[in-house]
Amino acid sequence: MNNQCKYMQSELIPTQVTNTIDVLEKAGFEAYMVGGCTRDFFLGKKPKDWDITTNATPENIVALFPKTFYENTFGTVGVVYGDSQDETLKIIEVTPYRIEGVYSDHRRPDSVVFTKDISDDLKRRDFTVNAIAINVSNGVIKDTVDLFGGIKDIKDKVIRTVGKPEERFEEDALRLIRAVRLSAELGFTINAETRSAIMAKSGLLSGVSRERVRDEFTKILLSDKPKEAIELLHSLGLLQYIVPELEKGINVEQNQAHSFDVWEHCLRTMQHAADKKWLLEIRLAALFHDIAKPQTRRFSRETNQFTFYGHEVVGSRETESILERLKFPRKIIDKVVKLVRWHMFFSDTETITLSAVRRMIANVGKDDIWDLVNIRICDRIGTGRPKESPYRLRKYKSMIEEALRDPISVVMLKVDGKAIMEIGKINPGPKIGWTLNALLEEVLENPTLNNIEYLTKRTLELLQLPDNDLKKLGKQGEDKRDELENSNIEDIKRKHHVS
Ligand code: ATP
Ligand code: MG
Repeated sequence: MNNQCKYMQSELIPTQVTNTIDVLEKAGFEAYMVGGCTRDFFLGKKPKDWDITTNATPENIVALFPKTFYENTFGTVGVVYGDSQDETLKIIEVTPYRIEGVYSDHRRPDSVVFTKDISDDLKRRDFTVNAIAINVSNGVIKDTVDLFGGIKDIKDKVIRTVGKPEERFEEDALRLIRAVRLSAELGFTINAETRSAIMAKSGLLSGVSRERVRDEFTKILLSDKPKEAIELLHSLGLLQYIVPELEKGINVEQNQAHSFDVWEHCLRTMQHAADKKWLLEIRLAALFHDIAKPQTRRFSRETNQFTFYGHEVVGSRETESILERLKFPRKIIDKVVKLVRWHMFFSDTETITLSAVRRMIANVGKDDIWDLVNIRICDRIGTGRPKESPYRLRKYKSMIEEALRDPISVVMLKVDGKAIMEIGKINPGPKIGWTLNALLEEVLENPTLNNIEYLTKRTLELLQLPDNDLKKLGKQGEDKRDELENSNIEDIKRKHHVS
């Protein structure tokens, strides 16, 4: 135990945490901050959640706080502060010191046993940096329990298991991928002995539930350096138990336009999505967009080049089965599959017309069309070529905006052809179109006129006019519409600086 970090950033710790510790201690129990929050605290980072460990039993804890909930097999009690109504809600998780029993299936302990000794609780934790306990009072660290050199490992930026690595990975093989996830999130390296144990025990990962693997894999993708992390998963022999399909791209060469093999290209494409801080779905689609290139590659004698016809179609199916296997939620799967399926669209730069853009919006949907552009941006960067010609990219954006807007037309009016016929008690004929266009002109001049009462009254007046006069007014309306349409499109082009 030591006090070396006594005055370090204790203002980072919320009052709810110190209060929880105070209440437990006043009642005669021990209480410590532990796990990820203590680690992040020493790193000066804001923790995602705050965990407290104590020698009190769940029943003791429940009795000490006004609002708690307790409904799990690990003994964790949620202490509730604030209110969900005014967004002050904060839940501090308090867990009794515990020892985990035998891990007969390499996944979860068969039983959880409470203990009175904090050192038992710290011993069961995965890595030294996650096995430090601190006790704070009045914003000052009173006591630090660091039995395995976790603080030094944080300083040295090292991930190392608590205890013998091979035994710890045999107990729970999820720790194999957690080591890589933590190293990716923290920018730490994995200690040599721990690394060799990961390599020796990598096969155990196949026995871990896909949901648990998915959660760690997701955190890896959402870290700042997912490319390095996936390379590490590969070199440690873990990737073959997560997404073996990716490894098929290794050494699969492409054409001159590509400086990299399929594997390197996919990783670079995904890394760019991470550099841009884009969503998980974009990162997944970037990673998998060319997943079917290895099996669709053919050599064309005419062009002396490789072709990859249909790789986006085969790839979208393969992506779907990978994501289903990893138990990703349906919503995420659907979006990623769609982006992979259509990722070639913006690459065929010559064929992009406004109507092609309209069709693509119909394929991927209005909400996802901009993400398809983002995939294009990543894909381009992933080839190692310079950025997309800024003009071309602006042109695509301008075309999308143009295709997305609602055109000016008589559809905007609060009356339609059928209404005109009813109001005027007339049969179908050219007068209906002339009237609608004449009304449109007035409404474009003054939008407040777009109401049933005015339009009804005005329709009756217009229908009294001689045909030629009404036809002229109708023509004026059409001209006005065209003029406004053109100027709106010009505005969009000007906004994107394209012609
Ligand atoms: P994060 O910042 O992502 O929450 P974390 O370190 O808090 O990271 P959690 O999964 O929330 O990770 O776990 C909380 C703590 O529980 C860890 O810091 C570690 O001490 C312990 N722990 C979690 N998973 C395991 C495991 N599989 N084996 C041993 N200890 C674990
Ligand atoms: Mg946590």
